[in-house]
Amino acid sequence: MFNQHKLSSAPRYRRAVEAPLDRSTIWPYEDGEPQAFYYSRNAHPNGVAAERALGELEGGEAVLFASGTAATTAVALALLEPGQTIALAEGAYYGTGLTFAELGRWSLKHVLFDQTGPPPDADLVWIESPSNPFLTVPDFEAAVAHPAPVLCDSTASTPIHLRALERGCDFALHSATKYLAGHHDALLGAVVCRRPEDAERLRAFRTATGAVAGPDAAWILVRGLQTLEVRVLRQTKTAQALAERLGEHAAVTTVRYPGFGGLLSFDVADGSAARLVETGTRLITNATSLGGVTSTMETRFRWEGARVPPGLLRLSVGLEPVESLWADLEQALARI
Ligand code: PLP
Repeated sequence: MFNQHKLSSAPRYRRAVEAPLDRSTIWPYEDGEPQAFYYSRNAHPNGVAAERALGELEGGEAVLFASGTAATTAVALALLEPGQTIALAEGAYYGTGLTFAELGRWSLKHVLFDQTGPPPDADLVWIESPSNPFLTVPDFEAAVAHPAPVLCDSTASTPIHLRALERGCDFALHSATKYLAGHHDALLGAVVCRRPEDAERLRAFRTATGAVAGPDAAWILVRGLQTLEVRVLRQTKTAQALAERLGEHAAVTTVRYPGFGGLLSFDVADGSAARLVETGTRLITNATSLGGVTSTMETRFRWEGARVPPGLLRLSVGLEPVESLWADLEQALARI
């Protein structure tokens, strides 16, 4: 009775936001039958809305996970068998190698290759474009000529610069924590599949193992995707200008920038010079991660050790004015 009274007096309204945030974990059965949504570990409206939006951008079927790393784990465990081998692009995100090493305890094998020719005995080819933090671009033709399925980690490209399924890959993987959500406030991952049956298998694995993304993060992703293109194009323009200027700076020995996207890395003489630079910026935040509207920079040696030069700094370019960013970098470089 109470509810009926409330409902009849509630004002009618139309929504401008397609999928409002729904934090429910359950939805009622109808006539005793579970409907499309019944328990949020299986599926929830904000997750489905985010998957639809990302799937359209990538030209495939998207499956959302709790993080990029959860997406990586799901692909390895759901689509491979114990004893099978992943050919992992050398220089790809170092955490991907850590994940596969962890899964080695369950007999998953991985070998490194240099992004040009995957070894013949691989059961899954894993490339990354551009690689983080080396910014190398894979040879797509060589990768897709391999008989095994090919996954491209497109985190740093985003679908604005790369639609990996159109380049012949079977999967595009994202740490949606980065550019797709875009504001350093949501942890999320996604795998976009060319074949619907792979998406179905990943969804079943996700329900069975619980690596789901929550509705708040999914809602943030939908919001982020609405501005993805303007953010990424602006970040690309700024990164291009900064890469050029860094290349001419006397204290900088190497600049790595593939010509697109908002991520770059550069080297200064050694670890102590790099420490002076990363702690010397005022506008650019000395923090990890990438892809947000605010710029972040850090030395990667602290995480990756000997895999990277001690003087390597990774810079994720945000939306700040290019001249402000350059002034910040110049004054930090002047500390060396
Ligand atoms: N792939 C790339 C290229 C990344 O940079 C990262 C994170 O830094 C990941 C995957 C892992 O994503 P997450 O941190 O969302 O688990």
